Amino acid sequence: MHTTVRTRMAPSPTGEYHVGHIATLLKNYAFAKQQGGQFILRIEDTDQERKVDGAVERIMSVIHQYGLDWDEGPDKGGPCAPYVQSQRLHIYKEYVDTLVKNGKAYFCFCTKERLDQMREDQIARKELPKYDRHCRALSPDEIQQNLTEGKPYVVRLKVPDAETITFTDLIRGEISIESGNVDDQVLLKSDGFPTYHLAVVVDDHLMEITHVMRGEEWISSTPKHILLYQAFGWQSPIYAHIPVFLNPDGQGKMSKRKGTVSAQSFLDNGYLPEALLNFFMILGWAPADQREILSLEEYIKEFNPAHISAKSVVFDMQKLNWLNGVYIRKLTQEQLTEKIEKYLPADFPRAQLAEILPLISERLVTLKDIESLTDFFYRPISHDKELLLKKADAALVEQQLSQTTEAITAITDWTIPALEQAIRTLQESTDWKKSQYFMMIRVAVTGRTATPPLFETIHCIGQAEVVQRLQAAQETIR
Ligand code: GLU
Repeated sequence: MHTTVRTRMAPSPTGEYHVGHIATLLKNYAFAKQQGGQFILRIEDTDQERKVDGAVERIMSVIHQYGLDWDEGPDKGGPCAPYVQSQRLHIYKEYVDTLVKNGKAYFCFCTKERLDQMREDQIARKELPKYDRHCRALSPDEIQQNLTEGKPYVVRLKVPDAETITFTDLIRGEISIESGNVDDQVLLKSDGFPTYHLAVVVDDHLMEITHVMRGEEWISSTPKHILLYQAFGWQSPIYAHIPVFLNPDGQGKMSKRKGTVSAQSFLDNGYLPEALLNFFMILGWAPADQREILSLEEYIKEFNPAHISAKSVVFDMQKLNWLNGVYIRKLTQEQLTEKIEKYLPADFPRAQLAEILPLISERLVTLKDIESLTDFFYRPISHDKELLLKKADAALVEQQLSQTTEAITAITDWTIPALEQAIRTLQESTDWKKSQYFMMIRVAVTGRTATPPLFETIHCIGQAEVVQRLQAAQETIR
């Protein structure tokens, strides 16, 4: 019996790391930390055809960007190194040999043509396609001869005939399946690479993994893994299969077709890693007091994998947006300035950041919103005639615009109080309705009806530019 809890995440470098992967990784990470154990990162790159260049580096980088880390892994080493499966081929070979020697696995020399034909026939007979165990009946002499002739082969598991395979899932309880439904799966491919099933079992065993928390898409593989543990005479780890996320609209499994799913893209789109982690914590699990804001430390203390909901949960964008706002509001001005830096568009007037940022920070849903919330400060605006004339006729608006232009031009020290005084004095000295007048200026100066506080905004845009925009507004209504 193992005494130390050891969990792992075992990404295949076949593409982008998904938000669901980070959510699962977080659970494995937190549980290991809670139990004073270790969290291991292992790269499962046995499918050489699907391997994508640079994917390992990107996966490791995105995990770090989310503020998480591993105790043992490809870059760090550890007692079970190497942590990359393609560097462990000799280990799998050795374990497969043992299985063959003990009569638990067998060589299969069937050609691709034979397997294709068999499959076609089975489908035609409306049977479930499955290996027909042809090579299971080969005599030791036949096997030897094939090997001597150098015939390519794979190694398959001898699945027992009529056995019930049972395992307990931490989330779903006991799961049973009849061995008759399990294929004599390939363990070692003809190129000497192990299949996922063999490699995952050998490695989880050798790396002394005690708990496997992985996506529910792997649940149908688990009976195969249990059979392998039995064949080796090893104790299997405890399994927890985590439900997949549903698309934000609640329809179907979350997928690329309905928007972005890559873990990196959420960061690139201005979500804070702390907010995303908090979001993943409360999707399908809640602490005893049901609170929704949790730090990583609190989660590590309170998380219980047995209490994860067995039902799939919707990837609720509204909740994520709300949480992101909560975390943005927690930042000091200094922290926010630092974090928002990489979302600033190239033409953003950086020297004015300290002045602009406090005006809009309350309205940031994501850090990337900085552009849409501030572009009118530094980019040319356009005027909508209808909007300018919404609450007053052209003659009045024209008069307001020209007198405001004069008042603003006359200001000698460009400060917020001076500006406010000039505009308020003008309004008070006329019979202009305050709400109409202020809105009209807002539209004339920014091109929009919703902006940060008016005087601060005008001040930020600058005297000369404001005068120019007021004149352009006048042109628009003529
Ligand atoms: N390599 C598998 C993956 O890509 C790991 C599955 C497992 O956790 O067993 O997710």
